[in-house]
Amino acid sequence: MLEGKVALVTGAGRGIGREIALTLAGYGADVIVNYNGSQVQAEAAAAEIEAMGRKAAAVQCSVAEDEACGKMIEDMLARFGHIDILVNNAGITRDNLVVKISEADFDSVIATNLKGTFHTIKHMYRAFLKQRSGRIINIASVSGILGNAGQANYAASKAGIIGLTKSAARELAGRNVTVNAIAPGYVDTDMTQAMSEEARGRILSQIPLKRVGNPKDIAEAAAFLASDKASYITGQVLSIDGGMAM
Ligand code: NAP
Repeated sequence: MLEGKVALVTGAGRGIGREIALTLAGYGADVIVNYNGSQVQAEAAAAEIEAMGRKAAAVQCSVAEDEACGKMIEDMLARFGHIDILVNNAGITRDNLVVKISEADFDSVIATNLKGTFHTIKHMYRAFLKQRSGRIINIASVSGILGNAGQANYAASKAGIIGLTKSAARELAGRNVTVNAIAPGYVDTDMTQAMSEEARGRILSQIPLKRVGNPKDIAEAAAFLASDKASYITGQVLSIDGGMAM
């Protein structure tokens, strides 16, 4: 389904990003595994992709850094020749009540989640225009749609990603580049494992399908949006949340 394509997945050493990277490779793509701090995991993911017979690279870059993103994309375009699929998955939380969120915690969540997504799209923009094809998939969140008490900074960053997605989709549609967002609900990863049993129970009671999501639920949808099968879908937000935001 993705043979001959090259994908760049941000934050792909762990969690949902790792699963997306492996799933895209499973469908035939070569994959650039971006990481920030998780070098060992990212190199292991790249090795797993190579063992599947695909090309891979693990590359360090904080998506919060504009110049570093530009350099990563320039280097990877030179190495792989083209990048057809950009998955903006890197994300962090710094949860607290609005009254207790520090300036630093508000800024760092916006810098990684929202500006990180902006940086990679900006640096891929001309390449996508020239190629006259491409897929951008941004990982938003149910929090960006419904809001979530204790996550104002995170929800604002994810709501921002939705606006960015729709604007970029309108700009790039004429060149056959689609831009979509996925809004996961509660997915079992490091990000959510820190929660108490009580908080977990509270969230479960809000999920109509009565189970938490797993990274594969998100990765298969990302692979579909990255494929030719989704060529007439752009500017959309696909909720994958067991029905939380219906
Ligand atoms: P996770 O297990 O905490 O992993 C976060 C990933 O983001 C890591 O690979 C991390 O890389 C990367 N990252 C963080 N800061 C980065 C930076 N500055 N530059 C590059 N990479 C960076 O989280 P996850 O659950 O897999 O979440 C993945 C995405 O899904 C996030 O955007 C998250 O907001 C979204 N999401 C998750 C859930 C959920 O329930 N889990 C729900 C909705 C949305 P390093 O380890 O290399 O630093």
